[in-house]
Parts: sequence; structure tokens; C-alpha cells
Amino acid sequence: MTKFTAGEMLELRAQFPALHQNVYGKPLVYLDNAATTQKPQSVIDRIVAYYSHENTNIHRGVHYLSQQATEAYENARKTVADFINAAVAHEIIFTRGTTESVNLLAGSLKQFLLQEGDSVLISGMEHHSNLVPWQQICLQNKTKLLVAELTNKGEIDLEQFKQLLSQKPKLVAITHISNALGTINPVKEMIRLAHDFGIPVLVDGAQSVAHTTVDVQDLDCDFFVFSGHKMFAPMGIGVLYAKTEWLEKMPPWQFGGEMVDQVSFEETTFNQLPFKFEAGTPYVAGVLGLEAAIKFIRQYDMKSLEAYENGIVRQALEMLQTIPGMRFIGEPIHRAGVISFVVDGTHPSDIGTLVDKMSVAVRTGHHCAQPVMTRFDVPGTVRASFAFYNTEEEVEKLVKAVEKAVSMLR
Ligand code: PMP
Repeated sequence: MTKFTAGEMLELRAQFPALHQNVYGKPLVYLDNAATTQKPQSVIDRIVAYYSHENTNIHRGVHYLSQQATEAYENARKTVADFINAAVAHEIIFTRGTTESVNLLAGSLKQFLLQEGDSVLISGMEHHSNLVPWQQICLQNKTKLLVAELTNKGEIDLEQFKQLLSQKPKLVAITHISNALGTINPVKEMIRLAHDFGIPVLVDGAQSVAHTTVDVQDLDCDFFVFSGHKMFAPMGIGVLYAKTEWLEKMPPWQFGGEMVDQVSFEETTFNQLPFKFEAGTPYVAGVLGLEAAIKFIRQYDMKSLEAYENGIVRQALEMLQTIPGMRFIGEPIHRAGVISFVVDGTHPSDIGTLVDKMSVAVRTGHHCAQPVMTRFDVPGTVRASFAFYNTEEEVEKLVKAVEKAVSMLR
């Protein structure tokens, strides 16, 4: 592994225009990367180039621009497949994001996999996007929602997880990395355990694709979902990866143009994979922006980026814990770039508001994971979340800002 130096990091950082601006008269310290990441110039340029010179609808046109755009769109599918090591490009379905991917899956699987009396197993740290769709489908289908509990450290209780597997749920849906706790789940092991019972597994990769290498064949997950905007790509584009055997069995979720083969008033036959799941005009610019983001990431060695980011996170944890009354919500052994905390005698949203005025952007609240807040008996947390373009200096500014906010509130 080649070490990612501070100099190289600054060069990388220089490519993100949004990081180079003042807010309230001081340089922005952007630590809300779990909500969304900033975009490098190459991604912005790709979108501008598409709308400037290439814009047209795809797949149906015989004219030059349409053929070019169709080819670019389908090449991007191959780039995404390659990025997560999918076996074939048609296993990549473009969606609006993680949320839509889960809804597609839930809407399709409920039609043939989940019957009355069955169950779906999720964990206690799921984002609402990987909880509410399953909960609602379970309510509709009279299916039971099983929940793997969390330990006090904010890790999934694997012993209880194994016991729940023995109830033979029809699906396991778990997050790779928790956006509320920072926990990296041992998904490969969990998938193996589930497969021992013949249970398919969905992995929510919203927080993992930009921070670690994902290899869906090595994980052997049946489904993997993620959002472009959390990995330096535009908002509104996302991916559902599914093994071919599942895509072949799954009925379509949305109906309309593009996903059909023959249509009459009496009946319709559906298009081949992956088009069966992509009804209507797709977000071509978003797909090309996603490809540009992947090309951006691939200029670097992911392991080096990960090691650099881990160093920043360690530094932040060490410095933050010196603040009196600091309590981390989630102290997992394997942690990604998310730090959630509360400080005794203060409210998280007051800290967030005060540090914002010091140009430090963090997030406060329940982070779309209300059951996690209930589990840890907190109204919400302050969440600082990192990307590989954050610096040690920014960590210092965060800690100083939190210290100052706490002293003002006490
Ligand atoms: N899952 C996780 C773990 C997330 O962090 C998020 C976004 N915060 C989502 C799902 C939902 O992603 P999106 O809003 O892009 O659909």
C-alpha cells in the first residue's frame, strides 16, 4: 500500500470547488459527508459537457446523438459493475438512490418471496430507508419484522443474529456501515451465516462505497444498494445491484416506456435485463456523473485513502474525548468515518448551531435512525462525518469549535 501524503491530499482536495469557500467569513470546514459528499470538478464538468453537447434521449433513437449517449450510458453501467466487481453489467440497475433501490426491491420481492407468516430480518441500526420499506411491506403482507439487537458499543449482537437466522427469515437486510454510529458490520461473515440457512442478503452500502473497496462477488451478497451523491457523484442517481438469478425471478416494480417488449391492450411482455427495471427516461447526466466520480476515485489507491481517512478519524476521537462530559454514541471496534456524540449538560442541536457559526458544518438530530436514538436513550447526537479530503487542521477546528460551544452552553 502506498501512503497517501498530506501533500497528495491537498492536491486531491483542490479539485473540490465547494470546499474552498468561506462561510460566516471563515473557511468552511465540511464534516457532513455522511449526508452527502462534495463533488470534484471532473464530475461537475461531465454533467455540463453532457447537457452542452450530448443531451438526447437514449436507447430509442437512431440519430447520432442518441447512439452516442446510449453508448456512454451503457459504458457507465460497465464502469459501475467493474467498480463493485459485479459479474455482468446487467446486474446494475440505475435508480434515484439507496432509498429507491430498497423500495424497488421491497416492491418486487413482496410479490413472490414474502407471504403471510414469513419474516424479514433487519438490524437495530438501519437507516429509515432500510427499515420503513420492509416494515410497511411486512404490514401489507402480514409478514413479521425481526430486528437484530445492538450491544452497548453499537455493534450488532451476532449471537442473537444467529438465533434469529434459525427462525428462517426470507430475507436479511443490513447496513454495511451505520450512518448514525460509524459501525462497520462484519457483512461478509453475516452473509455467510445467512447463506448457511439459505437466506438471501441485502447490504445497504450507502455509507461504504466511498470509504472502502466493495467487491460484491467476494461478499457474495444477493443485493447491494448505494447512492451516487455519497460518493462524489450527483444527487438523484443510485444503484441496485442484484445477482442475475434474482433479477430473472423478480417482477418489475414500475411500469412504462423502456421496460417493455411488446404491448397491446390485452397484455405486455417485458424487456430484457436490466431494462425491465428501468421504466421511463433515465437520469443520463447522473449516470455519466457517477461514472466520472468512479474514475475520480480510481485515480487513487483506495486502501491508502481509507488509511488516511482512518487516521483523521482516530485523531478526531482522541481529541474530542478530552472534552469534559463527552460521550460517544457508538464505540465499535471497527469504525468508519462517522463520529456521533453528545456532551453532558448540552443539547446536540445547540452544539450544531453554535459550531455552524464558527464555520464548522456537522449534522445534529436522529440521522434518519430514530430507533438507534431510542436504543441509546438520547434525543439525537452531533455527528461529524469525514471524507478523504478532510484535513488534520479541520479536525483541530472541529474540536476547538465544540469546546467553545460547550463552554458557552454550560
Ligand atoms: N442508508 C444509509 C446507511 C444512509 O446513510 C442513507 C443516507 N443517509 C441512506 C440509506 C439513504 O440514502 P439516500 O437518501 O441517498 O437514498
